[in-house]
This record gives sequence, C-alpha cells and structure tokens, in this order.
Amino acid sequence: MKVLFVYNPLSGMTQIKGHLYSIINIFSKAEFDLNVHATTGHLDAFNVVKDKAREYDMIVCSGGDGTLNEVVNGIMISKADVRLGYIPAGSTNDYATSLGLSKNMLKAADLIVSGEPTNYDVGTFNDKFFIYVGAFGAFTNVAYNTPQETKNIVGHLAYVLEGIKSIASIKAFHLKIITDDLQFDEPFIYGMVTNTLSVGGIYRLKKDRVALNDGLFEVMLIRPPKSAIELSSITSFLLGIDETSPLISIIKTSKIFFETNEPLPWTLDGEFGGNLDKVKITNLKQAIKIIDHKKAV
Ligand SMILES: [Mg+2]
Repeated sequence: MKVLFVYNPLSGMTQIKGHLYSIINIFSKAEFDLNVHATTGHLDAFNVVKDKAREYDMIVCSGGDGTLNEVVNGIMISKADVRLGYIPAGSTNDYATSLGLSKNMLKAADLIVSGEPTNYDVGTFNDKFFIYVGAFGAFTNVAYNTPQETKNIVGHLAYVLEGIKSIASIKAFHLKIITDDLQFDEPFIYGMVTNTLSVGGIYRLKKDRVALNDGLFEVMLIRPPKSAIELSSITSFLLGIDETSPLISIIKTSKIFFETNEPLPWTLDGEFGGNLDKVKITNLKQAIKIIDHKKAV
C-alpha cells in the first residue's frame, strides 16, 4: 500500500511531535510504503496532495480542520482514487468527532492500518471544496485576528451576540437564497451550511436526523433580532438551551445559492473562505473515502 502521510507540525493543542515516531512505527509494521511530508505553511498540504495524490493508494492527514480542508481539496482537485486516513490534531475537531474517530493519536493510527473506509459527502463552494462547514456572517471576519478563536465559530458567534450592547450594531446582509425547494429574499445576520453533528462543540444536531453521507446539508439561517428578547432567543438556541428560535431556520438541501449586493466574509472548515457576493454550494454525495470503522471479523 503506497501511503502519503501529510502532517502539520504546528497544529492545535495536541502536538504530534511526541507521537510521530510511534505513528510511523505503526505504519511501518503494517508494511506501508510510506512517504512523510511535514507541511511548511498555508496551502502546502493542498499543493502536495494535489500534485502527488494520484501516485498513492492512501493519504493520511494529521492536523486540525485547516489541514484536513487542504488535503480534501487536494484529493478532490487531483481526482485521485485514494482512501483518506485522518489523525485529528487540532484544538476542536467537530468533524473527527462526528466520524467517531479517536482523539488518541495512536488509536487513530491503528484504525488507519486495520480499518475500512466509508464514502462521505464533500461540499463544493464555488471552485473550492469543504468537508463540514461553510459559514458567513457579521462576525466571521473578526475571528481571523485570533486564529485559534476561528476554530470555534459558533462559540465565537454566541460570545459576540451575548456581549452586544445595542441590537442596532449587529450587521445584517440582504440575501437572495435559493435551495432545493425554498427561496429567501430578506436580511440575515448569519448563515451556516454544515455536514457534521456539531460545530464548535456547542451547536449540536440530533444524531438521528443528520447523516454525513446522505447528499444533504443542514443549513442554519439567522434573521436580525429586533429586541433583546429576540437576541437572547438566538443565543439560547446556539448554546443548546432552546431547541428552536423564531429567528432561526434550519433546512436540509443538496444545493444552495447565496447572492448579496456587498461581499460577505465566509469561513470554510474554520479557515477564511473569501469575501464573496455570489456563492454556490453543492453536496457531492459520498465523494470521498474516509477510514472510520474496523473491518467486520
Ligand atoms: Mg448530510
């Protein structure tokens, strides 16, 4: 098995350094024909995987959401028929948790050696790809000043909304939104397109109502609050205290189109996704093979 192991030496709280020899040892014992690449900066993981993925049977990625996003983009653009192994190493790992992957790096490496892949959905975002969340809003741009905070976009949103003194200071964007069967033409302060069971560890979706390989996204749209009570209904929803809010729509769709008069700041998998006035998102059903379960004996 030809394996490319791409890891981010700087990612997150869970440093890979103390585990690197043990992980490589696990891969060597499995007789992987292994190439190891430590990423050197932004887009390095993307470029390496895009250029090399077709030479391999498997790509193993270790890092946080940003590294995973780059590796997924590399695999998708290369159109390589590879399986993906993921050893999560970031500070928050909503997607890895949604897949049921171990936070213990050696256990995650063991599963990559002995496990089997499942086909999971990938999102397209104009000419890019994302694996679990694309979001826009008044607050998404602020977070990039503090990279670690960016990882927890929902926690950040709830925190910002709780701290707001005046409702008038919340910036709303007038959007035209088209989904599989709905249309909106009104102001929103925040929107999030997800394929995950949680975002930021706070915003949780019911496991029996969300599947990561059903070809559908969950979409959360937040309308501007007109009173302090409406504002608190939004934060209560985001923090999981209330199950519904009159200002929040949750919908399922396989594709969604956003259009605004002014560019919106977007995040993709917790990284900056650009300032854009037109965004087309589609769900590529079961487009990537991720190792997530043990072989049936
Ligand atoms: Mg889904």
